[in-house]
Amino acid sequence: MGSTERIRNVAKRVAKWARAGHQMVVVPSAMSGETNRLLGLAKELAPPKQTPDYERELDMLAATGEQASSALLAIALQSEGLQSVSYAGWQVPIRTDSAYTKARIESIDDARVRADLQAGKVVIVTGFQGADAAGNITTLGRGGSDTSAVAVAAAMKAQECLIYTDVDGVYTTDPRVVPEARRLQTVSFEEMLEMASMGSKVLQIRSVEFAGKYRVPLRVLSSFTPWDIDIDVEANSGTLITFEEDEHMEQAVVSGIAFNRDEAKISVLGVPDKPGIAYQILGAIAQANIDVDVIIQNLSKDGKTDFSFTVNRGDFTKAMDLLRSNVLPGLGAQDVVGDTKICKVSIVGIGMRSHVGIASKMFGVLSEEGINIQMISTSEIKTSVVIDEKYMELAVRALHKAFDLDRAAG
Ligand code: ASP
Ligand code: MG
Repeated sequence: MGSTERIRNVAKRVAKWARAGHQMVVVPSAMSGETNRLLGLAKELAPPKQTPDYERELDMLAATGEQASSALLAIALQSEGLQSVSYAGWQVPIRTDSAYTKARIESIDDARVRADLQAGKVVIVTGFQGADAAGNITTLGRGGSDTSAVAVAAAMKAQECLIYTDVDGVYTTDPRVVPEARRLQTVSFEEMLEMASMGSKVLQIRSVEFAGKYRVPLRVLSSFTPWDIDIDVEANSGTLITFEEDEHMEQAVVSGIAFNRDEAKISVLGVPDKPGIAYQILGAIAQANIDVDVIIQNLSKDGKTDFSFTVNRGDFTKAMDLLRSNVLPGLGAQDVVGDTKICKVSIVGIGMRSHVGIASKMFGVLSEEGINIQMISTSEIKTSVVIDEKYMELAVRALHKAFDLDRAAG
C-alpha cells in the first residue's frame, strides 16, 4: 500500500469480498518504504545497538507504520459504506514474548475481533506487532506481517488466509534469473518451508511454520490485480500451499530451485581428530548467536581433519574473529580460512521421497557445466550444494531445465 490511492483499491477489494458474504479480518503491513524510513530516522540519531533499551524503542517506532496503514484502511472502508474498526496488536491483544525486533507470538485473544465480526464489521488488525506480558510493544521481524496474518487466521479458525503481495505466487525459481520460471498452482507446506528457509523471500519463514503448526490453508496472490476482477478468479489465483500430498496436483519430482547468496564458508584446517572438536568449534559459534547451516568434516589423515561450515554473510567477520582469538589457540588447529564468494543452490521437492537418483542427477548437471561442488547437504525433500558464487545463475538455469521445470507438468 504505497499511497492513499492504493489503500482505496485495497478497500474496494475488501468491500467486494464483504459484499459476497465473507467475514474478514484484514492484516495490513505498513505503507511501502515506511518501515525503512522509520528505522532510518532512529539510525540518524544513534547507531543501531543490540540492547533491549534501544530495541524496545525501535519496536515502539516501527509499529507506528502498521498503525497508520490500518487506520487509513478503516477510513477507506468506511467511505466505501462498510462498517470497519482497526486495532493495534496490543489492543487485540496479540501477546508475544519480549524479544524486541524479533518477537514470537504466544497467544491471540479472539474475543474482541469475533464480537466485531458478529456485529457485521470488517476488522483490521495491524501486522508485524504485538505486546509482551508487561504491555511493551514488540515487532515480529522484517516481513512479520505475513506471520501476523497467519496467526490471526489460526486464532479465528479462518477458512483460508490470503496473502496479497508484490509477486503473483510462488515460482519454480526466481523469474529474474530464469525467465522460463513458472508459477506453481500448489506447493506443499514442507516444500514452501524449505524454499522460505533457503532465501525465497515470498513469505516470512515463521509464517510458513505457523501455517504448518495450525494447518492454516494459505494462498499467496498478487496485490496488483485490479480490485474488480471476478471474485472466483481471484479466489483461485496465485499459489495455494497445501497439506495433503495427494492434493499436490503437479506431480513433478522437483518443484523448485532455490538459491541463496547470503552465506559464507569457513574452514578450520588441521584440527586434531578427536571427540569434542565439533562442539568446541560450533559451540563457540552458537554461543555468539551465529546460525550455522551446511557442515562438513573431512576424513582424517594422520590424525588431523578439516572442518567446514557456512554462516550468514553478515556474521562472517564476527565468526572468523571469534575462531581466531578464542577457539583456534585451544584447539591445536593449523589455520582458519574463509570464503564469502559462495552461494547455495538447492533443489526441492516432496517427490524426492519416493524417487531415487535425484541428487545424482543434480550432480551430473553441475558437472556437465563444469561447476565444482564445495559442500553438499541433504534432507528428505531437498539437496543443496555450495558452489562458487559466479556460477550461481548458470547452475540455477541448468537445473531448472534439466528437471523440466520450464514445462507445465502434465
Ligand atoms: N512493515 C514490516 C516490514 O517492512 C512488516 C511487513 O511488511 O511485513 O518489515
Ligand atoms: Mg511483506
